Amino acid sequence: MDLYTGVGLSDPWKELRKKLFRNTEPKVKIIAITQPLEELKQQGVESGTIPAYTARHCWESSNKYTDDPMENNKLDKQLIQNLIKMGHDTPLQALNYVFDVEGITKSLQAQWTRHKIGVGWSFRSTRYVSGSSNSFIYNTYDYIKEEEKVKELLSMDEEINKKAIEIFDKKIELGSTKQDARKVMPVQFATHCSFFANARAIRHLFKLRLDKHAEWEIRRMSAMMLEEIMKITPEIYQDIYDKYTK
Ligand SMILES: Cc1cc2nc3c(=O)[nH]c(=O)nc-3n(C[C@H](O)[C@H](O)[C@H](O)COP(=O)(O)OP(=O)(O)OC[C@H]3O[C@@H](n4cnc5c(N)ncnc54)[C@H](O)[C@@H]3O)c2cc1C
Repeated sequence: MDLYTGVGLSDPWKELRKKLFRNTEPKVKIIAITQPLEELKQQGVESGTIPAYTARHCWESSNKYTDDPMENNKLDKQLIQNLIKMGHDTPLQALNYVFDVEGITKSLQAQWTRHKIGVGWSFRSTRYVSGSSNSFIYNTYDYIKEEEKVKELLSMDEEINKKAIEIFDKKIELGSTKQDARKVMPVQFATHCSFFANARAIRHLFKLRLDKHAEWEIRRMSAMMLEEIMKITPEIYQDIYDKYTK
């Protein structure tokens, strides 16, 4: 099964969003990840197996390393699976990522930043950056079957966004600061951030935010993060990926 279907998402009205006022779509990419230094690389350690390398201190099992880096890498990948099964999670904190995330709403930001442990952000500031350039995220309305109703709903969202920009500009003209003018913005305006997190915190985030009880937009962003992370360190997230795709 496709990951997005697995987490309960569909996007039947995507085309309708394209021409809406300042429509923006979400984008997620990984821009940095913890790397082992050369000495460890030569032993077969890579980003995704750093947690296993560190966990070997627990049992003084570093001596299991052979002269074959490929074999060591394989052993470490197996060890990662055991750590996850046992709930021996702390070594996962050794691996850190930086994501670049754009095209998410301010309302998603409010939910996401409730997470506190092992995570951090640098968000676009609306005190310093003018709200006049704001763009917007439109709902997918995937639960509505009739196209005419979706068009009407999107047109209402569009109307409020246009009005917000118009009033924002007017308030600035009248002498308001950006931080006071921004309060007229609907929570569907788009923001952009860098997100820093370790692998343990990301697994926890996925556990809560890919679940069907989480709001659709944070589920969509989490699915995009999972898709990206599977390209470089699948060994740490395979169980979560399988849960939503098998
Ligand atoms: C489906 C869903 C619906 C939600 N609805 C609401 C809502 O209606 N209203 C609302 O206010 N919030 C809501 N939340 C937010 C939720 O209550 C959490 O604040 C949020 O999910 C962050 O989770 P966390 O504390 O596990 O975060 P993290 O910071 O990721 O914490 C990780 C883990 O560390 C431990 N931990 C963290 N802080 C402490 C602490 N102070 N003491 C002891 N252990 C700690 C816990 O084991 C925690 O699970 C919702 C979340 C979800 C997923």
